[in-house]
Amino acid sequence: MTRKLFVTTALPYANAAFHIGHMMEYIQADIWVRFQRMQRDAGEQRTVHFVGADDTHGTPIMIAAEKEGVTPQEFVAKIAAGRAQYLDGFHIAFDNWHSTDSPENVDLSQSIYRRLRDNGLIYTKTVDRFYDTAKGMFLADRNIKGECPVCHAKDQYGDNCEVCGAAYQPTELINPYSVFTGSTPILKPSEQYFFKLSDPRCFQFLKEWLNTPGRLQPEMVNKVSEWLGENGEKLADWDISRDAPYFGIPIPDAPGKFFYVWLDAPVGYLASLKNYFEKKGLDYEAFLKDPAAEQVHFIGKDIVSFHLLFWPAMLNFSGHPIIDKLKVNVHGHLTVNNEKMSKSRGTGISPLRYLDLKMNPEWLRYYLAFKLNARVEDLDFTGDDFVARVNSDLIGKYVNIASRCAGFIAKRFDGKLASALSDDARSWIERALNSEVNGNLGERQASIAANFESREFGKALREIMEVADVANRYVDENKPWLLAKDETKTAELHDVCTAALILFRQLTILLSPVLPHVAARVREFLGDDAYSWDDTQGERVYAPLLGRTINAYSHLMQRVDAKMVEDLFDKPAAADPALAADAAAAVATAAVTTAAVTTAAVATAAVTTAAPSDIEALAPEISIDDFTKIDLRVAKIVNCEHVEGSNKLLRLTLDVGEGRYRNVFSGIKSAYQPEQLIGKLTVLVANLAPRKMKFGVSEGMVLCASAQDEKTNPGLYLLEPASGAQPGMRIR
Ligand SMILES: [Zn+2]
Repeated sequence: MTRKLFVTTALPYANAAFHIGHMMEYIQADIWVRFQRMQRDAGEQRTVHFVGADDTHGTPIMIAAEKEGVTPQEFVAKIAAGRAQYLDGFHIAFDNWHSTDSPENVDLSQSIYRRLRDNGLIYTKTVDRFYDTAKGMFLADRNIKGECPVCHAKDQYGDNCEVCGAAYQPTELINPYSVFTGSTPILKPSEQYFFKLSDPRCFQFLKEWLNTPGRLQPEMVNKVSEWLGENGEKLADWDISRDAPYFGIPIPDAPGKFFYVWLDAPVGYLASLKNYFEKKGLDYEAFLKDPAAEQVHFIGKDIVSFHLLFWPAMLNFSGHPIIDKLKVNVHGHLTVNNEKMSKSRGTGISPLRYLDLKMNPEWLRYYLAFKLNARVEDLDFTGDDFVARVNSDLIGKYVNIASRCAGFIAKRFDGKLASALSDDARSWIERALNSEVNGNLGERQASIAANFESREFGKALREIMEVADVANRYVDENKPWLLAKDETKTAELHDVCTAALILFRQLTILLSPVLPHVAARVREFLGDDAYSWDDTQGERVYAPLLGRTINAYSHLMQRVDAKMVEDLFDKPAAADPALAADAAAAVATAAVTTAAVTTAAVATAAVTTAAPSDIEALAPEISIDDFTKIDLRVAKIVNCEHVEGSNKLLRLTLDVGEGRYRNVFSGIKSAYQPEQLIGKLTVLVANLAPRKMKFGVSEGMVLCASAQDEKTNPGLYLLEPASGAQPGMRIR
């Protein structure tokens, strides 16, 4: 029977762009999906449907749209339009991307609700809800903060604690306050709709469901079992309604009431699948009932209660056939330099900045995969570790094999590989690919496959690197560069390079779920079709390459430059190293004293480091009106090149958000190479009269800092706004 997988990632809330934590989850799921697509069941390619959607409803989006003066629909459409650059940029290949604000989701959510109601699991009750009298509205869960009733973490939202993961009612918060006004909200009666999770049927079902092997990670079974209690006594009913005004799906037969966003959000998985099936002409209902179908969720540990209590109960008691095929994979959080990311402090690494710096997306895919396992553990991104891991494994061990051997095949054998291999070459290949345990060819690939299947990506990659180690040892011991110098060793050279490329091809197949773009280029180089896992078995390891003429090799991947990783992180403000060192020292000293002292110490350091005589004399005073005549704008350098015939100028192509590009010449050639500047933001004098120059018209001027005396200090420093600034923003 062919497995039919329906795979999802958590639906991102459509109030902001993706951060690096989203990318980690998508990369994890994408690697798993790509691995599955390489598998065959009874000779047929395994079916995988990989879908995502924006989670669009609820108060935060409603409020954000109101602030921008647009409708919530317009607001989420703008966010949705920005998704592709991230997904394409990191080679994440969803089959479909949809929205919870869609006809399919309205239909499916309301139908699930009606069935739950018919099943006796919905009731209404008049309850006291928090009401902000200053703002004049009922407060949604996310508009109330307070102390978590379970772990006592401060400043947690009204529905769920980001520290311990517990779900609760806003009225259970200790010392609640309104996020709009900071005031203590009052309680006001309102009729609400509840899902009866305390019903004994729910406990019976959940207990059995959780303990069915293969559904959940063991630590999740333990955690959720605690939430159930011995006999279900800890299961509380769930308030699924919100009062108008609310951006959401209307509750049938309940005017002025809407589903709480967490009721319709997971239904969005099915809505996206249904939407995809309709586009493809596939049978949605038949798929749900197919015994070969599996629903596999990838989610983070912060949203476990919604996916492991409410969602399975909703599916089961609405008679949804897919409940029998539900599996949930939970991952930990990504920390950056061992610090938890936070929305307010920023994410440490911006995925778009990563791409803007022209950093290779497959470096990040490999690095994160190397750190991922099947447990619910946090993983850490550290710059030095990233550089070392990528350069050592991908460049030093993997790409290196091809770059050391491909040239000889092209130059000495017209691109044609040997038609047969020596016994020695065969035995090396078998040594590399065999299981260390009992020496059967193909067992190592089977073990790597088992690790990908169980999401032990780090273990899979360690095993692949062991194969690479043997391959490198083979090349090192046989030294093709020496064989090439000896006319009598031509056949040996051919043999060694062919065997090395056979191993390189195997490594590429094994790595292709992680490095899809590199794998595609290797297929072009070797003249292969799409890879399947069967290509790592038996004679399929050898036969395709023997006697084949291959294409010219072009370099597959650059080393990571540590400078790039530095640029990835927000830089400290001080440009002068001496000043920065002093300020850092002042802060370090002050850190042990009070906050007031900190400010004083930093201020003192700043005043005393730069002597006034070192700087250029100030220009005559101007008024603010003089200043506002100069229109300074944030500009993105979309291209930069040398100017033929000029030893001073670079030609910059700038995006100032005007819907067209500007051409600007700048005398900064002595300080920058064009490729250093592409993708950077800078500051442009945007209303300077265009100037006709020998090489063309310059439409503005970019700003640089420089010392007064160019002879003793010739440095030029292009201005760069802090991360987050957008092309076209005015500087005021
Ligand atoms: Zn808590």
